[in-house]
Amino acid sequence: MAKTVRLVLGDQLNHKHSWFERTDDTVLYVLMEVRQETDYVRHHVQKVLAFFGAMRRFRDWLEEEGHRVRYFALDDEDNTQSLPDNLQLVLDEQEAEVFGYLLPDEFRLDEQLHTFGESLKQEVVIADTEHFLCSRDEVGSFFGEKSWLMERFYREMRKKHDVLMEDGEPAGGEWNYDAENREAYDGEVEVPEPLAFDHDLSDLAKLLDEAGVETLGNVDASKVNWPLSREEALAQLDWFVEKALPHFGTYQDALEKGEWSMFHSRLSFALNVKLLDPLEVVQAVEEAWEQDGDRYALNHVEGFIRQIIGWREYMRGVYWAEMPGYAEKNFFGYDRKLPEWFWTGKTKMACLSDCIGQSLDRAYAHHIQRLMVTGNFALLAGIDPAEVDAWYLGIYIDAIEWVELPNTRGMSQYADGGLVGSKPYVSSANYINKMGNYCKNCSYSHTVKVGEGACPFNVLYWHFYDRHREQLSGNPRIGMMYRTWDRMGEEKQERIRKQAEGYLDRIEEL
Ligand code: FAD
Ligand code: SF4
Repeated sequence: MAKTVRLVLGDQLNHKHSWFERTDDTVLYVLMEVRQETDYVRHHVQKVLAFFGAMRRFRDWLEEEGHRVRYFALDDEDNTQSLPDNLQLVLDEQEAEVFGYLLPDEFRLDEQLHTFGESLKQEVVIADTEHFLCSRDEVGSFFGEKSWLMERFYREMRKKHDVLMEDGEPAGGEWNYDAENREAYDGEVEVPEPLAFDHDLSDLAKLLDEAGVETLGNVDASKVNWPLSREEALAQLDWFVEKALPHFGTYQDALEKGEWSMFHSRLSFALNVKLLDPLEVVQAVEEAWEQDGDRYALNHVEGFIRQIIGWREYMRGVYWAEMPGYAEKNFFGYDRKLPEWFWTGKTKMACLSDCIGQSLDRAYAHHIQRLMVTGNFALLAGIDPAEVDAWYLGIYIDAIEWVELPNTRGMSQYADGGLVGSKPYVSSANYINKMGNYCKNCSYSHTVKVGEGACPFNVLYWHFYDRHREQLSGNPRIGMMYRTWDRMGEEKQERIRKQAEGYLDRIEEL
């Protein structure tokens, strides 16, 4: 019997949490693999395997440390497949007096656990996950009624946590070195070979199969390549600092066919399930710079740190300030279905085919692939943001709603009308060609603006601005686009409109 039952969710695998500092025989930890979580969206098979794989390793670690654990495997006979029902079962079984849980990061689970807690006769204790640098509502309070400019928040975080600061000033004299971080890949430095963990999760894959869990994407279950334990997460961090960080910034926005993660860290899964602490990641990077500023130039180090203490915390703040309404935002009122080829990669557009194909194979795409290829197309084509969300939430290894939703609806689809982004992230083929080599082997031509073989991004780009003139032309960052459009003349504009509409009518064949 245990006096206290404590729930640990699959994305709460924080080895450093104060709950686990001491063992206590009167406390029982509960972890569970449930259909409720495998089925709320169709996930990539690697994502389900990685979550369950990491949870099982966390269970083993807890037991080795001397904690008591009740683990529900997906096929356990008494597994009800529902979080509250399993919890009720354990609380009754143990005749527990206290139920404890860690603040969930998803609104859906927050509501569910809140309702469950209210129904109990036991005392309910809610603890922080001790992972993020800000509380749920801190970012919202920081901005108040002012505009949600990420850069302002980021500078505050630098000062507050004394990161890359010298005598109260930003290291090197600048807060932001982004201007140096916009190079295409030139092959000058070799892209480092990703660290391979090659987990054999065939048994787990069989379990999912037998249970009939519907997943998407591809996997070789005998070689699942994500860090699943604390040691592996730390090894991934070491790998990043040693091999990729020295060039991270320069090629941060580069798109290169066949190079699926470039100089990116691939730390998002380990961070989001809390195997890594954001501050320890930032400190490892800052330390590398302090020890060898020649090898680790500021543009790489600052560019990376901004993603973690800036964007990551900021997005979480947006989520908690705006939910639940944020999940319904649809500024442009789009309702087009996501083309089927988003689920197969079978399109003649080389950039999309590569980015989608890689996402299906690896459950991963780096930021610019997500933002400027798949997201860019979805926005230009006017896809229903709910369909876009379901795709991003399902396909990526790191996709948990608190971070997926503000990135997709906000940053990528402008469905929030400009809370996260000061203008829509859209581009013609010009940008995709400038940042990489996809256009070299494409059925469409990036140089043809309208007419035979014109790249769909080229005509859809102007169609987008044209159809949203009323909503966008007042934005000072966009005004110039309308002046260019107006100079094109009626005849060319009409050709662009016609071709764009033709492309949209037969979007499945593009
Ligand atoms: P790196 O490029 O190495 O960056 C380091 C870390 O910074 C990442 O691991 C991540 O923790 C953080 N980071 C970087 N950019 C962002 C950002 N915009 N928001 C929050 N954190 C950031 N990230 C997720 O973790 N989960 C998602 O579901 C997710 N969905 C996205 C959907 C869209 C449409 C877009 C445009 C971006 C999305 N991102 C998401 C943000 C970003 O693309 C990923 O965090 C990043 O690609 C993960 O790869 P990495 O670890 O190699 O990142
Ligand atoms: Fe993508 Fe257009 Fe370039 Fe083809 S030509 S790869 S569709 S941007």
